[in-house]
Amino acid sequence: MKKQLAFYIDAKRCIGCFTCAMACKNQYHQESGVIWRDVYELKEEIYPHRERAFYSLACNHCENPTCLNVCPVVAYYKREADGVVVHEQDKCIGCGNCIRSCPYGAPRYNPVLKRAEKCSFCWQRLDDDRKPACVLSCPTEALQIVDLAEFDEANAVQYPAGFPRYPSLNPSVRFRLPAMPKMIRRKL
Ligand code: SF4
Ligand code: SF4
Repeated sequence: MKKQLAFYIDAKRCIGCFTCAMACKNQYHQESGVIWRDVYELKEEIYPHRERAFYSLACNHCENPTCLNVCPVVAYYKREADGVVVHEQDKCIGCGNCIRSCPYGAPRYNPVLKRAEKCSFCWQRLDDDRKPACVLSCPTEALQIVDLAEFDEANAVQYPAGFPRYPSLNPSVRFRLPAMPKMIRRKL
């Protein structure tokens, strides 16, 4: 397998502090309402415990990105060297095809520029040997980058409960499931 970078989301460590999402917004001076990374609290049907659990999610830099396939002006490309999916905003005409087609809701519409945008995996920082802003900022190391060509964490899963399953896209993301409390205090 070729090198494919992926976010590894360790829900056992995540405390839902939103630092990663804020670091992303700060890094790119995003417009109000434009969010590339967000932190989601697991719903009670999935995690029925008084302690809460979170997934920090952004673009999954899929092996077969539908955003790239539906773009009429070739504003997306996938980097050969590391599999990162890049959106070139200067080519974008704001048609919204990528926004509508991505089942993970990763591309967002920028109402000021009238164009799409999404997580870039901070490729400029990667090329400078630096971590993405979200990964660097996480105080608990709940967000990491891994190369799927070498990654062999036995407990990692690609599709945890509640995360949409799209094998045709093959999202480049892995999760460690949240801890299960020993006692369930909620009355059943
Ligand atoms: S998650 Fe969506 S925007 Fe990101 S690469 Fe996959 S299809 Fe494209
Ligand atoms: S910064 Fe780390 S601990 Fe905080 S929400 Fe993001 S992933 Fe979770």
